[in-house]
Amino acid sequence: DSFDVVSFLNRVIDRFELSKSSDVTFQRDLPNEHIYVYIDIDKITQVLDNIISNAMKYSPEGGTVTFHLKVQQQHVEICISDEGVGIPAKDLDKIFDRFYRVDKARTRKLGGTGLGLAIAKEMIEAHDGRIWAKSEEGKGTSIFFTLPLIDNQEDDWT
Ligand code: ATP
Ligand code: MG
Repeated sequence: DSFDVVSFLNRVIDRFELSKSSDVTFQRDLPNEHIYVYIDIDKITQVLDNIISNAMKYSPEGGTVTFHLKVQQQHVEICISDEGVGIPAKDLDKIFDRFYRVDKARTRKLGGTGLGLAIAKEMIEAHDGRIWAKSEEGKGTSIFFTLPLIDNQEDDWT
C-alpha cells in the first residue's frame, strides 16, 4: 500500500518518545511535506523498532538520537544516528549478519540475540531498498536505509 513516510516515521518516533525510560533525546530532521512510498507498514515498523532500540541500547545517558529523511532521485533515504559506543570498521558489514554481535563481553550484558539488523536487512531488501551503516568508535553510529518512491507523488491515495 502507499503511505506518507513522513507521518509514518513521526508516529513511530512519537511512540518511542512516550514509552522510553532512558534519558535519551530524540531530534527530528524531517521534511514538512507528504512523501509517498509503497511499504508493508508492519514490516517497516519492525525495521524501525529494531534500529531505534539499538540506538537507545547503545547510547550513553543524555545522548541524542537523530532522525533524518531526505528525498533523492528514485527513493527516500532515512538515517538514524546515535552518539553511542560506535562500531569498529572491521565489524561494520557483519552487523547485518544473523547472530553477529560486536564484542561479546560488551554486548552480553545488554542482552539480545543479534537478529535485529539481519531481519531489518531482509525486510528492506524485500522492499527493493538498501541498508548500511557508518560509525566512529566512541562517537556514534548511523544506520541508513532507502525505500523506493512512488513515481507520481501527486496521486494521494491516503
Ligand atoms: P537483538 O536485536 O536481536 O536484540 P542485537 O541488538 O545484539 O540483538 P542487532 O540489532 O542485529 O543485534 O545488532 C548486531 C550488533 O551490532 C549488536 O550486537 C551490536 O554489537 C552492534 N550494533 C547495532 N547497532 C548498534 C549501535 N547503534 N551502536 C553500537 N553498536 C551497534
Ligand atoms: Mg538489536
